Amino acid sequence: MRVITIANQKGGVGKTTTAINLATALAAVGKRTLLIDLDPQGNASTGLGIDRADRDVSSYDVILEQASITRASVETAVPNLFIIPSTLDLLGVEMEIAGSSGRAYRLRDALHFHSVEDAHYDFVLIDCPPSLNLLTINAMAAADSILVPLQCEFFALEGLSQLLETVEQVRDTLNPSLHLHGIVLTMYDGRNNLAAQVVKDVRAYMGEHVYETIIPRNVRVSEAPSFGKPAILYDMKCSGSQAYIRLASEIIQRERQGRAAA
Ligand code: ADP
Ligand code: MG
Repeated sequence: MRVITIANQKGGVGKTTTAINLATALAAVGKRTLLIDLDPQGNASTGLGIDRADRDVSSYDVILEQASITRASVETAVPNLFIIPSTLDLLGVEMEIAGSSGRAYRLRDALHFHSVEDAHYDFVLIDCPPSLNLLTINAMAAADSILVPLQCEFFALEGLSQLLETVEQVRDTLNPSLHLHGIVLTMYDGRNNLAAQVVKDVRAYMGEHVYETIIPRNVRVSEAPSFGKPAILYDMKCSGSQAYIRLASEIIQRERQGRAAA
């Protein structure tokens, strides 16, 4: 089981879109995949068609140790893809667990218990809130690796060093095996010279950490969530869906190489 946390403390950079479509693409090639929605906004849950009424058990219950991973998992319309939805209850969770020891390990412990006791997942993806709060720290402590979406805009790199510092701190204290899986450039607009420059700059700065695949800005991708569907189901042929399918194979490839090297 590989646990990949999708994080960037900036909002609107494509975390949730990447979580939904990457998870769908992995499931489509037969990988049993679980997406954990850790953002109180619940956009990943809505985008996968989970009604608020069907969120009796949520990621909030997992963090509070009131429900197991299995109990909180909901089947989606995509075969092989499961989700643990989120609710607005998550907004208060930081206060609720702030005083408890092991508060950063709630998710890791739940996943660990799951992997020992229960049905197997090939991939677990975690969609984080736009903040470096205790939820994001839980996601980093639980993960093998971090995937960072960066939007192809002028301030793309702003905040990245702070994020990477946080990853470093989590590695030093909570999770020694955490590493950066990769950086995915999103919402690329080929007609915009600035976007091309941003791609160059990010590649120069982060080198091979940046995936080959770039996700284009694509209106079909932004329409899909309002139908409660991943873009890959809504319009598999659109450029955005195709890019996410390529990203999934790049990630599977990197996983294989990583395992071969280990
Ligand atoms: P985050 O989770 O980081 O806040 P989202 O994934 O919700 O970011 O994306 C922010 C907004 O941009 C959403 O409205 C989403 O539909 C839109 N968006 C994301 N990726 C693309 C894309 N490749 N093409 C067009 N719109 C996109
Ligand atoms: Mg989001």
